[in-house]
Amino acid sequence: MDLRFTDEQLQFQADVRAWITSNLDRPWSEHVADARHTPDSLVEVRRQWQKKLHEAGFLGMGWPEEWGGRGATEVEQALFEAEIHRADCPQVPNFLGIGLLGPALIHHGTEDQRRRFIPPMLSCDEIWCQGFSEPSSGSDLASLRTRAEPDGEDFRITGQKVWTTFGPWANWIFVLARTDLEDRYGGISFFLVPIDQAGVEMRPIRQITGESEFGEVFFDGALARREHLVGKPGEGWRIAMTVLGYERGAATLSNPAQYDGYLHDLIAGVRAQGDLERADVREKLGRLIVENEVMRSNGLRTLANLAAGQAPGPESSIEKILWSEFAQRQSDAALELLGPQAQLAPTSRDARGGVDWAYEYLWSRAGTIYSGSSEIQRNIIAKRVLGMPTR
Ligand SMILES: Cc1cc2nc3c(=O)[nH]c(=O)nc-3n(C[C@H](O)[C@H](O)[C@H](O)COP(=O)(O)OP(=O)(O)OC[C@H]3O[C@@H](n4cnc5c(N)ncnc54)[C@H](O)[C@@H]3O)c2cc1C
Repeated sequence: MDLRFTDEQLQFQADVRAWITSNLDRPWSEHVADARHTPDSLVEVRRQWQKKLHEAGFLGMGWPEEWGGRGATEVEQALFEAEIHRADCPQVPNFLGIGLLGPALIHHGTEDQRRRFIPPMLSCDEIWCQGFSEPSSGSDLASLRTRAEPDGEDFRITGQKVWTTFGPWANWIFVLARTDLEDRYGGISFFLVPIDQAGVEMRPIRQITGESEFGEVFFDGALARREHLVGKPGEGWRIAMTVLGYERGAATLSNPAQYDGYLHDLIAGVRAQGDLERADVREKLGRLIVENEVMRSNGLRTLANLAAGQAPGPESSIEKILWSEFAQRQSDAALELLGPQAQLAPTSRDARGGVDWAYEYLWSRAGTIYSGSSEIQRNIIAKRVLGMPTR
């Protein structure tokens, strides 16, 4: 395993960094701190940023050329993601389309489906959300009850989905629905459903952070066209596993790159309060810095495996636990060390760092739940990495 980057890879990293410097007008945290922005105008900032990335050929980089990709290597993709996070760029609105559905269509879709859906996904002319979880089906996803009944050639979908990230801004949703009520796994099918139609109601959910980035979706006989069924009826579970593989797949270098900036901000705040020389404070900060380095090393190890042609395996559960639990420890420490300062959201006018720690503290609660909770990840590690006996 070689964890060093080649000269070519380092040149690629320098090129991405230079491109970001000339194309990013403001870091994302400054947009968020700007009181003139509304939730919709922030989404518009993200949409414009996605369009720029798309025009520069940075989206879907690892996909085949015919689907907008440029056959980029795993290392180039990881370096790109790390630079984007390091520079505090806006997240593209279509992260679920490009991150999850795009690869699923490339693996399981028809030529017509790829031709129809991938270009507007990359250009952000259509935004996607993910309709998997239901009020009683999260960790145990195969217990889902939303059903799709034949209607001539097509299907009618009835049921409810929940925690639908970016749903309030999405145009399309990829939905797991039952075409067979008896067969637990083999009765699930994968549909592409337009949201703007009678029979679909998207209700925003207000979150603990005060935002409403999620929705709950009610389907009442919503139309799903036959040509928008991915795979055959009953193949939805297999396709969902592809999606989850990408969802949990290796983030490798991006989280440590982002947390470098957060830790820098935290240390600057502690220094400004005159507490940086305290031994207990130094120990706490030192521990976080070391944990972030462990995460980076683990990311490099995963990346070396990916570069050697291995698919992301159950080991990505280790990474998921590392970053999601680290994010909670980091924001816990910020609230403790910065005291009341941590409760104040930065404004675009003040000279404090850009991290809104109270927001990060609240948001980090979600990290140990989505893409499989920490308990589920530990079950996977026990069973598939350590080979421990399970009931
Ligand atoms: C920020 C965020 C964004 C999300 N976005 C989406 C989205 O876009 N689309 C979508 O479809 N879903 C989304 N989800 C839903 C997410 O996938 C589920 O919340 C997750 O799968 C957990 O399911 P649940 O909430 O129903 O909890 P449950 O499955 O009910 O779990 C409750 C508790 O029981 C524990 N538990 C459950 N089963 C076991 C077990 N076998 N062994 C040990 N412990 C167990 C869990 O760890 C958890 O602590 C999102 C969730 C969050 C928090």
